[in-house]
Amino acid sequence: MNKCGVLILLLPGILFAGLSERVDKLADAVEDKVIEWRHDLHQHPELSNQEFRTAAKVANHLKSLGYEVQTEVAVTGVVGVLKGGKPGPVVALRADMDGLPVTEKTGLPYASTVKAEYGGKEVGVMHACGHDAHVAITMGAAEVLANMRNELPGTVKIIFQPAEEGAWPATVWGAQQMIQQGVLQNPQVDAIFGLHVRPGKSGAILVKPGPFMASSDFLRITVTGKQTHAAIPWGGIDPITISAQIILGLQTVASRQVDILGSPSIVSIGTVQAGERNNIIPDQVIMTGTIRTFDHEIRSAYHERVTRTAEKIAESAGATAEVYIGADTGYSPTINHVELTKAMTPTLQRVAGKENLFESTMTTLAEDFSFFQKEIPGMFFFLGVTPPGRDLLNVAANHSPLFLVDDAAMITGVRAMSHLVVDYMIQNQ
Ligand SMILES: [Zn+2]
Ligand SMILES: [Zn+2]
Repeated sequence: MNKCGVLILLLPGILFAGLSERVDKLADAVEDKVIEWRHDLHQHPELSNQEFRTAAKVANHLKSLGYEVQTEVAVTGVVGVLKGGKPGPVVALRADMDGLPVTEKTGLPYASTVKAEYGGKEVGVMHACGHDAHVAITMGAAEVLANMRNELPGTVKIIFQPAEEGAWPATVWGAQQMIQQGVLQNPQVDAIFGLHVRPGKSGAILVKPGPFMASSDFLRITVTGKQTHAAIPWGGIDPITISAQIILGLQTVASRQVDILGSPSIVSIGTVQAGERNNIIPDQVIMTGTIRTFDHEIRSAYHERVTRTAEKIAESAGATAEVYIGADTGYSPTINHVELTKAMTPTLQRVAGKENLFESTMTTLAEDFSFFQKEIPGMFFFLGVTPPGRDLLNVAANHSPLFLVDDAAMITGVRAMSHLVVDYMIQNQ
């Protein structure tokens, strides 16, 4: 091989090292702003599909950086497109923007005192899931990428998404709505990345290829019998005893009716409502619950088995069970694209450091990033954000009024999101 050939072989590596260093320098330069943005967002949380102030803030930021910006996508969603100086793939970053009906108790100087109406009641509003961090990190990454626009071999699409937690009555997910409105088209997105902050060592990154987070489907079972005196149960059909049998019977779906190897599942009943008096057997029992799975096929098989188990137990006692499973409005399982995740894991390792990158276990929580992953290759990962000096085993979880995010972890998020975009572009030029 001549010298020229060697140079051609080395060139992508040299360019890559150059771009990588640029990302880190530009990320350092936005760190203080990212922390300031998060504090501001934290102090002004907004409920799902009401993220008006947040949407205006991110739209103005993207416009000031030269992004082509679309607003009011799926109510309050904002999409920014930035065409790099060189041809290449289209890479999307997604950040969810909504807060929760939680009254903050952190005592932070920038704690939220916001109140809003939720489900007909006045509630406190808090960024108790850390979506303020996701927005600030992604604003930072958007700035890093805009500041190296001419060198970018591809197009960046930034997606600020409303209603990840679901707008009241929690049947409309922002990701699903944005996809329906064409967010993955024009230009068509080749890959998408997203993150979630959670309790854990500050700055640590957790990821895993394949099934990562669970599906989440609403379940309601209405058992109808026949009302009678509680002292004369044979005079009617007792839906309470039948419901007790159904609650236990449902546990045999996970333990006896689906293959538990490799794909766990859960069905939990959270509410049981029936009756007016101690000595009257009522006509009806209404139960609600949730179903969690990690696989598209097991998810639909599970729904059939839950329905069959409830209906047949009721039938065996002469009652009826009407089963409603909100599959159309539930979350899919979050499944990380295996090849994409394997290809991008070295990037995350470089960003977090070898000692701070962990293979995650599966989590039975759910996430509407899964809707993007049903359409295109996507990778979702966790960022540990517990401030140092806390007991990691007893720290407040996401959705707690005491949930905390360490400012020092923000820079890792900005670097991770920015490097993922640049590395994906270089690998897929
Ligand atoms: Zn949440
Ligand atoms: Zn969340």
